[in-house]
Amino acid sequence: MPPTLADLTTLRVGGAAREVVVAEDEAALVYAVRRADATGTPALLVGGGSNLVVGDDGYPGTVVVVRTRGVSTESDTCGGAWVTVAAGEPWDDVVARAVAEEWAGVEALSGIPGSAGATPVQNVGAYGQEVADVVARVRTFDRAAGVQRTFMAADCGFGYRTSRFKADPWRHVVLDVSFQLRLSPTSEPVRYAELAHALGVDVGARAPLAEVRAAVLALRRAKGMVLDDADHDTWSVGSFFTNPVLDDAGAATLPADAPRYPAPAGRVKTSAAWLIERSGVGRGHSLGSPAAVSTKHSLALTNRGGASAADVLALAAEVRDRVHDRFGITLEPEPTLVGCALPPA
Ligand SMILES: Cc1cc2nc3c(=O)[nH]c(=O)nc-3n(C[C@H](O)[C@H](O)[C@H](O)COP(=O)(O)OP(=O)(O)OC[C@H]3O[C@@H](n4cnc5c(N)ncnc54)[C@H](O)[C@@H]3O)c2cc1C
Repeated sequence: MPPTLADLTTLRVGGAAREVVVAEDEAALVYAVRRADATGTPALLVGGGSNLVVGDDGYPGTVVVVRTRGVSTESDTCGGAWVTVAAGEPWDDVVARAVAEEWAGVEALSGIPGSAGATPVQNVGAYGQEVADVVARVRTFDRAAGVQRTFMAADCGFGYRTSRFKADPWRHVVLDVSFQLRLSPTSEPVRYAELAHALGVDVGARAPLAEVRAAVLALRRAKGMVLDDADHDTWSVGSFFTNPVLDDAGAATLPADAPRYPAPAGRVKTSAAWLIERSGVGRGHSLGSPAAVSTKHSLALTNRGGASAADVLALAAEVRDRVHDRFGITLEPEPTLVGCALPPA
């Protein structure tokens, strides 16, 4: 029996795939995708499965699990550390190594699950950093053209939790990612107030890399945001919804005490977690199924054991509708939904 998508994802929902291929080197990865494309078989790339919700009917094609490995580095005092990481490398191993080698720029991204190759897909971010700050280039296999392509950072279409790779998900297979990191034992300026407070520094100050990593991991663990098999609050996709980015008119409708952060093009980002809590959806809330809002973070929808994708999506729809009824704002899912959708409002 091939593994089900529940076995391959951190939310642990999703039925069987028609076929599962584990690609341990780049040639196998490209071959698996090319073979599927040549026969008209749908192919789904899965790294750590930490940003995927797959429907209960499973996947009617080939799931290609990306397990490619390899890290190469060059460094000099002018350019810093140039670190090229194969797509299948676990992301947090990359961060741990960067901290140990005194390469600054990803320390606040400690503890994010999944693969290095998926980090540019949704431009992962946390605690004031995002990979767009340090990605130098992304090398891909272009399924439409059948050739390898290299995108420099400026061509990656990075935005808040998005990129050209997320916008056109079928097309790009990320093969490796090159990061350019600063050589320093101290972090980039700490931009996130909660992290600065935990470190005992002012916002904008720097701190030793190892201390930043330890503080981020502690903050994340307290919110169920570091994977732990024994903790159902971590059986999730992390944040289920993105933080809404509002224009002037939308921002004007927010209550005075709602969080407001500057966003590109003069827009305003607010906190989805705040909206959810103020809509009366408490931590631990459920509709009576084994899917429930995390007991540690209102933005994570979790599987308490035996939940189906339909259970999670019904809960997600209820949260979305409660926020919409209260604030007129429609929350958008952050993970990739495959073979399933939120029930209509
Ligand atoms: C507990 C928890 C905490 C989290 N915290 C954060 C956080 O703080 N910040 C944040 O941004 N995210 C967070 N996430 C979400 C998730 O960890 C990230 O989005 C991560 O980068 C996904 O990596 P993955 O390898 O698991 O991707 P997957 O879930 O396997 O895939 C995600 C998408 O990327 C595609 N994909 C995967 N690999 C490739 C590839 N090589 N080439 C092309 N496409 C590919 C998939 O097809 C899919 O569409 C969290 C998730 C969990 C479970």
